Amino acid sequence: MRLRIIFYFIISSLSLNSQDDHFRCSHNENVIDKEYVKDFIKKFNLKKSGGQTEFSLPVEMYNAPDGFFESYSVSAYFDTDTTSSYSDFDCGNRSKNDHRGVDFYSFPFCWLLYELDAYVAVCAADGIIFNKIDGNYDQNCSPEGNWNAVWVMHDDGSMTWYGHLKEGSLTSIEPGHRVDRGDYLGVIGSSGLSNGPHLHFQCFDSNLNLVDPFFGECNYFDTQSTYWLSQKEYRSPKMAALLTHKRKPRFGCPAENEYAFLKDTFYLGQSIWIGSYFIDYINKDDLKLQVLDPNGQVHKEFTLSSEFEYDNSHVEFEEFILYNEDIPGEWTLRCNYYGVVYEKKFVFVNEKTINVFPNPSQDLIEISGLDLDAVDYQIFSQDGKLVSRGIVKMNRVDLSNFPSGVYLLSINHPEMQFLNRVIKL
Ligand SMILES: [Zn+2]
Repeated sequence: MRLRIIFYFIISSLSLNSQDDHFRCSHNENVIDKEYVKDFIKKFNLKKSGGQTEFSLPVEMYNAPDGFFESYSVSAYFDTDTTSSYSDFDCGNRSKNDHRGVDFYSFPFCWLLYELDAYVAVCAADGIIFNKIDGNYDQNCSPEGNWNAVWVMHDDGSMTWYGHLKEGSLTSIEPGHRVDRGDYLGVIGSSGLSNGPHLHFQCFDSNLNLVDPFFGECNYFDTQSTYWLSQKEYRSPKMAALLTHKRKPRFGCPAENEYAFLKDTFYLGQSIWIGSYFIDYINKDDLKLQVLDPNGQVHKEFTLSSEFEYDNSHVEFEEFILYNEDIPGEWTLRCNYYGVVYEKKFVFVNEKTINVFPNPSQDLIEISGLDLDAVDYQIFSQDGKLVSRGIVKMNRVDLSNFPSGVYLLSINHPEMQFLNRVIKL
């Protein structure tokens, strides 16, 4: 089965209506109070040094879940067109009117990455913390309120902003103290004028003039060379993730509407959903996704080519099932996309038995061997009386409300009934 979703990340960027007038930024106005900066420089006895600071990527994945490839993309570039229309530095339309920064988005499962503190803003160059704003709600699905943000002043006097961060996640380093390139600044969230988790990254040169850090033919706003240490390609097609799911995932906002259904172990006869997630997707004819068995043999091959030539974020879902004759063990998904081989492992358990543990138990009994989620169970006393019935949740049965004793646990799986003696301590 082939399914396709296009993600329109209509992610707003901007901005900040700080309680603090020194840090104003509205749709058309991006102001740093230069007098405040002068006082700050004096207070901390700072001296400008070095040539123009070059920025490195301000986002990083920390402890990414298995199957995420730590790829980053931009949902909206700086609007270099000073009219009511908009353009990005490369003459494309990946911007929005008066967007005065670069939006880096987390994909896929932006809310999962937010929950796990996995997608973070990092310092683009050495400098000192200039300002921090925290304490604002961070799960916006439409623009509202103030953001949580960090400002860094670099050694040449230039400045970078990191906005829409998760509440309470900001670096503990206080204004006036040093940070190095790559240092953690905060978790990417959706505070302020934002439609979903992303980082708004905004740059000012050493004279505190707003700049687009990208150099390109249509950078009408700022004709300087690139401000990046290494400017990323405008389009750099990559896999963002290759994941296995127990069901087809759902995307939504806020966090409670996103269901990743991630799963790495599958049992006999159970649907295995594969999600192939691309950023800066450029269609590749004859793009294949291979499923390899534990011996490395190709068991199945899906064609992932799309009729769409380009997608900012692109997903392909496939569903298949492994049966009794298939080899148990560690299986591999493999996709070669523009010369890079992406792999994801999952485990196939081919057993028709279950194990219950710990047994004896004080409260929760875990069940392994089959996926028994939402399957009915019954518990009988030793003399055969039904004492409880319910539904297995997360492959667990809760005995905590039972008196100590010996019971018979009956699991009513569609394929067979399992009977296990369990002891409640
Ligand atoms: Zn933005």
